[in-house]
Amino acid sequence: MLQADTPLRYVKGIGPRRAEKLEASGVETVEDLLYVLPFRWEDRRAFATVAELGLLQRESTLEVEVASSRLIRTRKRGFTIFEAVLRDGSGEITAVWYNQPYLARVFVAGRRAVVFGRAAISRYKKRLVLENPDYELLEEEDREGIHTGRIVPVYRKLGELSSRMLRVIQHRVLEGLGERALAETVPPDVGPPEGRIARLEALRQTHFPPPQTRLDDLAERRTAAQRQLAFEEIFLLQLALALRRHGLRQQRRGTAYELTDALCTKLGRLLPFKLTAAQRRVLKEIGRDLESTHPMNRLLQGDVGSGKTIVALLTMLVAVENGFQAALMVPTEILAEQHYRTLSSILAVEGISYRMAVLTGSLRAAARRRVLTSVRTGQADIVVGTHALFEAGVEFRKLGLVVVDEQHRFGVLQRAALAAKGARPDVLVMTATPIPRSLALTVYGDLDVSVIDELPPGRTPIKTVVRGESDRPRVQDGIRRAIAAGRQAYVVVPLVEETEKSDLKAATAMAEQLRSEVFPDLEVGMVHGRMRPEDKDRVMQRFVAGEVQVLVATTVIEVGVDVPNATVMVVEHAERFGLSQLHQLRGRVGRGSAKSYCVLMAGDGGHGREAAERLAVMEQTGDGFRIAEKDLELRGPGAVFGTQQHGLSDLQFLAVVLRAPELLESARNAAQRLVGREPDGAARAERILDGLRPAWRRRLGLAQVG
Ligand code: ADP
Ligand code: MG
Repeated sequence: MLQADTPLRYVKGIGPRRAEKLEASGVETVEDLLYVLPFRWEDRRAFATVAELGLLQRESTLEVEVASSRLIRTRKRGFTIFEAVLRDGSGEITAVWYNQPYLARVFVAGRRAVVFGRAAISRYKKRLVLENPDYELLEEEDREGIHTGRIVPVYRKLGELSSRMLRVIQHRVLEGLGERALAETVPPDVGPPEGRIARLEALRQTHFPPPQTRLDDLAERRTAAQRQLAFEEIFLLQLALALRRHGLRQQRRGTAYELTDALCTKLGRLLPFKLTAAQRRVLKEIGRDLESTHPMNRLLQGDVGSGKTIVALLTMLVAVENGFQAALMVPTEILAEQHYRTLSSILAVEGISYRMAVLTGSLRAAARRRVLTSVRTGQADIVVGTHALFEAGVEFRKLGLVVVDEQHRFGVLQRAALAAKGARPDVLVMTATPIPRSLALTVYGDLDVSVIDELPPGRTPIKTVVRGESDRPRVQDGIRRAIAAGRQAYVVVPLVEETEKSDLKAATAMAEQLRSEVFPDLEVGMVHGRMRPEDKDRVMQRFVAGEVQVLVATTVIEVGVDVPNATVMVVEHAERFGLSQLHQLRGRVGRGSAKSYCVLMAGDGGHGREAAERLAVMEQTGDGFRIAEKDLELRGPGAVFGTQQHGLSDLQFLAVVLRAPELLESARNAAQRLVGREPDGAARAERILDGLRPAWRRRLGLAQVG
């Protein structure tokens, strides 16, 4: 009898060799295997006759007898064609399979079979044949059909296991498990709003849906069984997050920052502009965190250009004024240098003397030593840097606060590593990726969320247009006009990989051509990721100073770069960029009051429907929220949020959650209720999570987050 924890090598059809490979990919036990779910289902319920096949023009199921068969060895070495003539009362049809010679032993004349496929005119025979149909021999299975005559699951290939093999194995496993083989993971009173289904039953119905199931419900992941599985997964994730939050709440730092009126007045004097109402609101929320004895764990979400930097600065200064150090971590060196410059210039006020340092991976040894010393001795109040900030050897004297800018570029682990440098510092993470609320709860369930939902005043909307090769002269005229009016322009060239030589050559060639042929009278600069940091910084500084008028850049300028005088953004090969990336790039212009333009160059079209749709979205809206939702729709959450975050891309049911936010809400509420229940809610929650199989713990990110 199979058990949930039976290792896969004992499952018939898998064997030790395959089991080993599956184990390596994290599928170790029968239970793990059951959670390898179909990614689509096919309707093979209705039977057709051979005579109907040509008319039906769609995949159909036939019950046939094998009339004859032959194996043809072609002249191409190793390439075989197997043909079987199949018949039923209405007629005959030939089925062909390529490179499956063993079928000669399966399709023996006289045997009965059910086949599923679509009839098409054969390339070789110029007549109707069934190519590579799925099949099931009737004598072989006296049980109900697995591959035909039902709604049939289709799996992604898992190691060496084809969809068909997986189907057989899953069926066998589901039959072989006793009714009580799968213990419930969640308490009995917790389930989706419409009521709960036992785990084994939910898995059965998801792998092999009952005959009355609707196919579009399956495709939309909204059958009762699918919702049950989704609920369970989301509940466990929310439970982990609620527990983590609970743990954070329990920890008292002992000291809370003081946020006196005098301090507020002092900081207010630094402001180069009047804060927006949204900025003031989030600062209040942050202020409450800072004053309390619990460490802050807050996500600050605000669209590109909404003014997060000043919020970060004020937050850090509160820590500094209270005798602590603050660190600002950013994803690129360009951004580190820029923040360093911006903050320094804001702080360059009479009578104010905060000390800042910048730490990046490419500092020369002597400079690095100097910076490390100032960080260790506490000489530096604010340290801006890349992930070099949390490398070994970096010691803070008294780190009280960490701000992570452009959080979506970092993994959870990096965030945790920096936090570990101080004794439980306050953490503020900032992102421009406007995540739908339902998703934010899933990804950042352990964080409080603040939103800047307003742009600073005086911004003119950016005009976005898609242009082709033949428009190039006009686009170049546009750049010229902007520069004649005293403005500056970016030209972004795609670099799929910063290390890709050919791409880099193309980018450099583009800069060269602009410099020598198109704009010989203008200053054209270039930055890319492979330049020496000093050189990069020099070009950026010249661009900031207005000495460089056209900046050719790779996506190193994608995040954070702030040069309000730049009003034109031309993106070459825009079709190669994802939506979020285009939105970020576009965010480099429209930062001042002058009218700005974003030109998406898309060659001569013909990039497929998805690319066209992306570009059209960019033309239609500047709303980061809508763009993010569209991006999710087009690419799916795994691609949008990267793979590092909380094992998110592995969550099989994220799709469900996005479409059914009420499921997430109820799972989250249930998790919080359970953890908060006195006297032993947290302990109970911990037991539930401890009892999960290792693969599940990994998937929920518990292994790292812990
Ligand atoms: P992001 O949220 O994308 O990081 P920044 O902090 O870089 O945005 O701010 C974008 C631009 O808007 C900067 O040039 C900044 O100086 C300016 N800015 C921010 N807040 C205000 C405000 N309240 N009033 C006017 N300008 C502002
Ligand atoms: Mg920013």
